Amino acid sequence: MPTLLYTHAIFLEHEMGPHHPERPDRLRAVQRALESEEFVFLTHAEAPRADPRIAELVHPAWYVEDLLENVPTSGYRHLDPDTAVGRATGEAALHALGAVTDAVTQVMTGKARNAFCAVRPPGHHAEPEHAMGFCFFANAAIGALYAARRHGARRVAVVDFDVHHGNGTQAVFDRYNYLFYASSHQSPAYPGTGRERERGLHNNFCNVELPPGSGTELFRQRYTETILPKVREWNPDLLMISAGFDAHARDPLAYLRLKGGDFEWVTRELVQVADECCNGRVVSVLEGGYDLQGLAEGVAGHVRALLG
Ligand SMILES: [Zn+2]
Repeated sequence: MPTLLYTHAIFLEHEMGPHHPERPDRLRAVQRALESEEFVFLTHAEAPRADPRIAELVHPAWYVEDLLENVPTSGYRHLDPDTAVGRATGEAALHALGAVTDAVTQVMTGKARNAFCAVRPPGHHAEPEHAMGFCFFANAAIGALYAARRHGARRVAVVDFDVHHGNGTQAVFDRYNYLFYASSHQSPAYPGTGRERERGLHNNFCNVELPPGSGTELFRQRYTETILPKVREWNPDLLMISAGFDAHARDPLAYLRLKGGDFEWVTRELVQVADECCNGRVVSVLEGGYDLQGLAEGVAGHVRALLG
C-alpha cells in the first residue's frame, strides 16, 4: 500500500510579511528534499480544498468566516504579533485542512498505508477561538475528530515532536475522552503550556519537557521510557503525527540539539507502534521547522521512515 505525499501550489502563496520565519521557502525546501531518487515510491496527491464546515469540527462558524471573508486586498491583517492573514491565507488554510482530512480518509479506508501532509500554514497552536503562533486551523486536531466522526475511529492519538508545545491541539483534546495527545517540547519556551503535570481532564495528555540544550540522548530516552509506552497503552485506531522540525540543532527559533537522524528514529518508533496497534495507519502533518537545511534533513528522515 502506498505512502501518500500531499501538497499544493497555494501553500507557496500564503505569506505573513517580509522576513517572517514561516515562509514559502520552507515548503520549497521540503519539496526539494523529497525529489531525491530514494523517494520515487511516494504517491503524490494534490491537497483538495476542504469544505469550510469541516473546520467547524473545532472552530466556531464566526471564526471560520472571519478568516475566509476578511481578506486584505494588500498587506497583512495581524491576528497576533506574529500571526498575520495575507491574500492567500484562507485558501491555503482550507487546502491544508483538505490534505489532512483526505489523508485520514485514504488511510482509514485502507487505500493508503500512511501519509505525509506537506502543508502551510501549520496548525498545532491554533485554539478553537484564537489564531496564534503562525497557525489558523487546528489541522491535526480536526483530522483526529474527522477520523472519529466520519470513519468510526474509537481512539486517536496525536504525537507532536515539534519543539513547541501544541497548546491548540491540547485545548481541543481536553474536551474528548477518546483523543490522546503526547508532546515533546523545549521548556521553558513559547507558548508556555505543556508542563508535565498537565495530564488532561480525561488523563489523555502526555507532556514531556526538554530543557534548552537537550539533544539526541534525552530525546530518545524520554520517547522510549515515557511517550511510546503511553501511546501503546492508548492503543489508537489511527496515529497522527504533528511533525515539526524546529527541534533540529540548526533551528533559529529554539535551543534543542536534534540531528536529522533523530527524526528518522522517532518516526520509525511511531510506525512500529502503529504497526502493533492499527495496521500501520499513520497520518503526519507538517508543523514548524525554520532552518531550511534542518527542515530538509528532518523531513527526509521522517518520510524515509514512513516509506519503511
Ligand atoms: Zn514549533
